[in-house]
Amino acid sequence: MPINTGYLDPGLSVRIQHHLSIILFVAVVGAISLAAAVGVLMGGLEDAALVYGRAVDQHRQVEQLVAEGGALLDTAAGITPRSGTESFGVADRVITQSMATLTDLRRADVLFDPQTLLNARLALDRCRDLANGRSVGVQHPDDLEVFRRSAAQYVSALAEVELSAVAAVSHQGRSVARRRRVIMLLIGAICFAYLALIERVRHWTTRHLIDPMQNLADTARQIMTGKTISPLLEAGHTEELTTLAGMLSSFAETLKTNVRTRTAQVVRQKELLETEVRVRRRAEQELRYSALRDRLTGLCSRDLLMDRIGQCFARARGRDGCRFALLVVDVDRFSEVNDSLGRLIGDQLVIAVADRFRSWLEELAMVIDVESASLARIGGDDFAVLLDGLATRDDAGAVAQRLEEALAEPFHLQGNTLNVSASVGIALAEDGAETAEELMRNADAAMHFAKAGGKGRLVVFRPGMSDEVSARDDRAAALRRALDLGHFSVVYQPIVSLETGRICGFEALTRWDDPDRGPVSPVEFIPEAEETGVIVELGRWVLRQACRQLNSWQGELADGRHLSIAVNVSQHQLAHPTFVKEIRQVLRETGIKAADLKLEITESVIMEKPDEVADVLGQLRALGTEIHMDDFGTGYSSLSYLHRLPIDVLKIDRAFMNSLSANTDYADVVHTVVALARTLRMRVTVEGVESEEQLVQVRALGCDFAQGFYFSEPVEPDEARAMLVAKRRWPAAA
Ligand code: C2E
Ligand code: MG
Ligand code: MG
Repeated sequence: MPINTGYLDPGLSVRIQHHLSIILFVAVVGAISLAAAVGVLMGGLEDAALVYGRAVDQHRQVEQLVAEGGALLDTAAGITPRSGTESFGVADRVITQSMATLTDLRRADVLFDPQTLLNARLALDRCRDLANGRSVGVQHPDDLEVFRRSAAQYVSALAEVELSAVAAVSHQGRSVARRRRVIMLLIGAICFAYLALIERVRHWTTRHLIDPMQNLADTARQIMTGKTISPLLEAGHTEELTTLAGMLSSFAETLKTNVRTRTAQVVRQKELLETEVRVRRRAEQELRYSALRDRLTGLCSRDLLMDRIGQCFARARGRDGCRFALLVVDVDRFSEVNDSLGRLIGDQLVIAVADRFRSWLEELAMVIDVESASLARIGGDDFAVLLDGLATRDDAGAVAQRLEEALAEPFHLQGNTLNVSASVGIALAEDGAETAEELMRNADAAMHFAKAGGKGRLVVFRPGMSDEVSARDDRAAALRRALDLGHFSVVYQPIVSLETGRICGFEALTRWDDPDRGPVSPVEFIPEAEETGVIVELGRWVLRQACRQLNSWQGELADGRHLSIAVNVSQHQLAHPTFVKEIRQVLRETGIKAADLKLEITESVIMEKPDEVADVLGQLRALGTEIHMDDFGTGYSSLSYLHRLPIDVLKIDRAFMNSLSANTDYADVVHTVVALARTLRMRVTVEGVESEEQLVQVRALGCDFAQGFYFSEPVEPDEARAMLVAKRRWPAAA
């Protein structure tokens, strides 16, 4: 947090500095004064000691003089008239010496009585004069006596000098001792005063600066630690500290407010952060769950399954004969359910299928010898089962079969009954897969292969299948591209009423003119379109084209009202959940009557799963369209089904026409078919009429309609129209 410098009074620090400067100045001056006073006193003491020393020294000299005076007196006493001049000579030397000493003493500061010294000197001078007088030969007994007296006087004068000197020395000694005592007392007093001053300053500083500052520091610490703030200062502090305390107090208040605001912000941030953490944690959990579990069905996810397959491979490397397989199950035409009934039902179907598979797998161990089975959802309508520890290869197929059976019962979802089948691709690890990805790729290829072969099939992967699947994908792409680019067209082959000999309708047949390959036969591309599922889109387009064309003929041609159009319908279209709805929509869009639309469905498609198509055929019949069973006679029709299914026309395959010409037995067969049709209240169309003879034959056999190159090959709409306009007629019934 940035410090608010507004709390600091710039004058305050100046004032505190001023106080501290004064204290420092007093301390320094005091110390200097103390040192000076001590120095001065010590100097005085030294002087006194010096004077005393000099007095002692002078006393010593006086003592010397006294000793010399004594010697002089001895000399004087010992002088006789006979000793003469030598004795006076000795006295003279003593006197000369004493004179010098006295001169020195006089020159020096006289510390003792000067008069006494002067007397000693005068006596000495007299001694000297006498000594000199004799030395020059004045020899008189009286003089000798005088000399002796003078010497005695001199000695007594010297004794006085000595006394005076002793008194002076003793006086000086006492004086020095007194001065020393006084000086020592003064030094002690000054030191005491200085210490008292220092103590006073310390006390003042402690009381007025350090304690309050300590107090302020404690307060600041309390503010920092967020505790309650105690009263900052008691009364009686310096103005500056009171100001500082006041500022600190208002700073603390502001700080408190700021802290409260910041705390509230932090709490809010913390709550936001906690929410964020909770959200992220949940997202992470969901992510982890979705990585391992499929959200819709709760089954294993693809990632988890791949991991388990990886583990199987890892275990398999360690031991021989470890067998495992992957089954990829795709719900047939799931996208159609999604498109027609909505994604909600699509999701419900996926959940229902998953439930069936799951409950079935729970019973698996009782049925098949397998160590473990993992069920996963690996795509929109794609499931996978990993079977680990299979006893035999065939067990994988058996499991797949059971999966198919699990879907046998229809699903009832929100009022819709859905018959569901699944295509299953089976890949065994021993068939060349070495990684989880390869096994998955193999199972996927087998599943696509199964799917291409029609609904509800099982295919076991074999090497090379992947290439076939990708080749098929290429074909599908080519077909879709051709449809988008308009390379398909519809031609029309007339269907002639054998009763009138006139064209009563046309069959719409698709043509593909590929820019690279040229015209491609429907015998080639229709199976491809069926295999790849493109037939659903292609068939939808043909149906719309054909109905529009019929509507146009019906509208513009006088006899057009009686025309009908036959459109081929593949098994994929028929099984599409919205097929009936689409027919209804096309009829409404193009405005043709339902009765004028004939839907040709091959015998094999109807008879392969008659129960499944029965429902949709019933709906188409209810709509009013006719159902023509195409290529009749090439498959195996069950009479009981023929009887029950809503079929209007049996369209005898053209192979019969070829045989009819060659073998008269076929006439009986056709006759029987016609008779059967009559019994079942159906009519008969014959395909492949290529000659008049055949026409005569089929008419004789009682067929209702005929179609073949004899009348016309499939032609462009304009040509077909021209035929209608020309009112072409083939030999009518006699
Ligand atoms: P289909 O439905 O049985 O159609 C009749 C086929 O027989 C047509 O062959 C037609 O050209 C041929 N044909 C007609 N009269 C004669 C004849 O006198 N002699 C001989 N040899 N052939 C004759 P196309 O057009 O090649 O069609 C072959 C098959 O392709 C059709 O057989 C039909 O199953 C399928 N197909 C054609 N167009 C479509 C379509 O739009 N949708 C579906 N689902 N299948 C179609
Ligand atoms: Mg046909
Ligand atoms: Mg046919």
